[in-house]
Amino acid sequence: MALEIRQFPCLQDNYGFLIRCSETGATACIDTPEADVILKESQTLDWPIRAIWNTHHHWDHAGGNEAIRQATGARIVAPRAEAATIGHVDQPVAAGDAVALGNLTARVMDVGGHTLGHVAYWFEEAGVAFVGDSLFALGCGRMFEGTPQQMQAGLARLRGLPPETVIYCAHEYTQVNARFALSVDPENAALQSYARRVDELRAEDKPTIPTVLAAECEANPFLRWDDEGLRARLGLQAASDAEVFAELRRRKDSF
Ligand code: ZN
Ligand code: FE
Repeated sequence: MALEIRQFPCLQDNYGFLIRCSETGATACIDTPEADVILKESQTLDWPIRAIWNTHHHWDHAGGNEAIRQATGARIVAPRAEAATIGHVDQPVAAGDAVALGNLTARVMDVGGHTLGHVAYWFEEAGVAFVGDSLFALGCGRMFEGTPQQMQAGLARLRGLPPETVIYCAHEYTQVNARFALSVDPENAALQSYARRVDELRAEDKPTIPTVLAAECEANPFLRWDDEGLRARLGLQAASDAEVFAELRRRKDSF
């Protein structure tokens, strides 16, 4: 059984993803940032889209749903908590649910905080997770709707996946995220070399996505709420994990 993945740029800095079960040909798109681009990619690959899997309701993730649904008849899988906002949802999902892609199965994870109902789709056997705007390479999504407690708990769930998990984030924000990460964690050697690699990739106009969870755990401050060095630098040695996360998110918002 194999999961095939195609990643391609959409809009200003989004990524579109087509995923396919190689045995059955069943194909889904993860979010719908730009319908035209996604449909064209699907035609080029000859991977007809049977389903849309939304991570959250924002327009750059669900805004292309209607055009793709009308063009392909795709079924819409989306977080139950945001189904009313997203519209035409055939399969509302919540944490722990299984979603089938041909012979493959993804597990739904609650990663709310960027939006209240934000979900991630985790293919355990393939070792791949699609995380939308919850976790970014060297960063995380803005906390538009949730609380620090909620968002930190969601990121903790992602952090708990196997370290070799390949993480597909929805935006190319890594270079800017690296600048912020270095500002709060300047002596982190893993972060320094990660940031240099990002600069090299971007200089060649190459994507920094996907990333690997183990690298994020070493370098991404938004997964390092319990790191003593980072806590000391923030002056938050005695704070809760959510308080450390909240302070990092607050600083990033005004960086
Ligand atoms: Zn978003
Ligand atoms: Fe987004």
